[in-house]
Amino acid sequence: MRIGLGYDAHRLIEGRDLMLGGVKIPFHLGLLGHSDADVLIHAIIDALLGAAKLGDIGRNFPDTDEKYRGIVSTLLLRETAQLLASAGYRIVNIDTTIVSQNPKLAPYLPEMEKNVSHTLGVDADCINIKATTEEGMGFTGSEEGMAAYAVCLITR
Ligand code: MG
Repeated sequence: MRIGLGYDAHRLIEGRDLMLGGVKIPFHLGLLGHSDADVLIHAIIDALLGAAKLGDIGRNFPDTDEKYRGIVSTLLLRETAQLLASAGYRIVNIDTTIVSQNPKLAPYLPEMEKNVSHTLGVDADCINIKATTEEGMGFTGSEEGMAAYAVCLITR
């Protein structure tokens, strides 16, 4: 068995959709990035790639590649799952935390979990998604950006 850790952060700006875990969340700000900037999915991808010693999201899906401009991050997650399967790995479980001051994410977490488990082709009880604030402190507290952490366990 092998563990992996992923972390990502993106800036919040006006005029972008807020995509988290493949769910479009109503909010007056969205995350800025080359892709759809789904910070949760990016953290999960980095955890999976790290566990399998397959590098990181930037190496596998470079943001200098026009092919990935505006891409839905769940497609990158699906490709990541295929990379792990090709390397002979199976996902045991993934646990995550989104760090966000606003909006309140609790109502959307079950749909995010469903999206991620479907995309990865694993049982729903393999995926856990949590959300927390940092109580107004730092860049997440000021709504300058959002962050996400993910850990995973994989096995051959
Ligand atoms: Mg990212």
